[in-house]
Amino acid sequence: MRVLTNAKTLMELFKDYRSMTVDDLSDFYQSKCDYYQNYVGISLTAGVIASIFYIISDYLLNGSFIPTLIPRFSVLIGMLIFIAVTHFFKSRGVTVFMDFFLAHCIIFATIWSIYHLEDRIHASEGFIIMNVVFLTVGFVAKPSETLLSSIIFILEILISHGFNHYENLDIIMALQIPLAIAVFISHCLLMLFYLDHYRMRQKLELAMVTDPLTQVYNRHLLEKIITKNALKDVAGPVAIAMMDIDYFKQVNDEHGHYTGDLTLLYIGQKLAKGTHEDDYVIRYGGEEFVIILKNCDVNNACARMEQFRREIENAKDTPVPITVSVGVSRYNGDFSKSIQNVDNALYKAKNSGRNKVVVV
Ligand code: GH3
Ligand code: MG
Ligand code: MG
Repeated sequence: MRVLTNAKTLMELFKDYRSMTVDDLSDFYQSKCDYYQNYVGISLTAGVIASIFYIISDYLLNGSFIPTLIPRFSVLIGMLIFIAVTHFFKSRGVTVFMDFFLAHCIIFATIWSIYHLEDRIHASEGFIIMNVVFLTVGFVAKPSETLLSSIIFILEILISHGFNHYENLDIIMALQIPLAIAVFISHCLLMLFYLDHYRMRQKLELAMVTDPLTQVYNRHLLEKIITKNALKDVAGPVAIAMMDIDYFKQVNDEHGHYTGDLTLLYIGQKLAKGTHEDDYVIRYGGEEFVIILKNCDVNNACARMEQFRREIENAKDTPVPITVSVGVSRYNGDFSKSIQNVDNALYKAKNSGRNKVVVV
């Protein structure tokens, strides 16, 4: 039964994977790379060190360290190039390329060392061990990239046969090809399991910035917008509005908190449905909502808020009759200053009789 459940989960994940857009896929692979790169980087370093230690097995075969000393240590040049490039270039493409580059440097050093071995019968063991390196690097890569790298590895063995003359090339290939397929399948599965993790993380991230009562954003998102300076990329003007329910305490006192909660849900949903997809509706405090309107000047923002105000005042489907007051201001590049302006505008709306929109 457990096997069936796992197969069903994998099928669902595969369907999810197939339905991803190009942008989603790129974000997914970036996330997978970010998540596993430390592990891969450290494991590759361990692989480099282990491959240098194979000089001991060379000694057991040759009776001397000298012939394979330079080939075995040549992997350190690859390591230095790897460190330099990954220090300056952080993109996924370069990171994955350099991980495979270092893996192939280990293979190159191995092939060169085999050339200097008197007995080459053990080359097959050496090549099998290399699959551990591919199994590791594949954590950051797409399965197709791991497959390509395994094919290049097989070509490297075939080309090096020209000068290494492996005594048992047939055995090497008979072992290597199924292993390359197994590594590829393992990475397809790993990718699907990472997708499960990725989706869970997305859900948690969304839950972090969502207000559970009104289902609009909460203040965590506002903090993200401020710390990431997210509004600087908007080409057009940005307006900020703050809406506060009038005499909301009375709603709670006279009709109970449950009705108060339903009223908050009503306002949150109305704002979410009435704004554009890239605008932000944020529950700022108890019964206060901040609305960030992108590509919208102050006059337009006022008109849109005035329409909300009128619709709420005249609505027949609110849990109880309510009105709202709204402050509006232009976003001037400084979020705290702009919020202060909006707050002042709201204060004026409240002090001049409520149920109105005021601009500062
Ligand atoms: P004003 O017109 O000046 O805004 O008056 P007000 O009564 O709306 O403002 P006040 O700040 O005095 O009261 C806000 C109320 O909002 C008090 C608090 O009990 C209520 N409130 C805050 N969060 C929630 C919530 O999650 N659910 C409910 N039901 N009420 C809440
Ligand atoms: Mg209020
Ligand atoms: Mg208030």
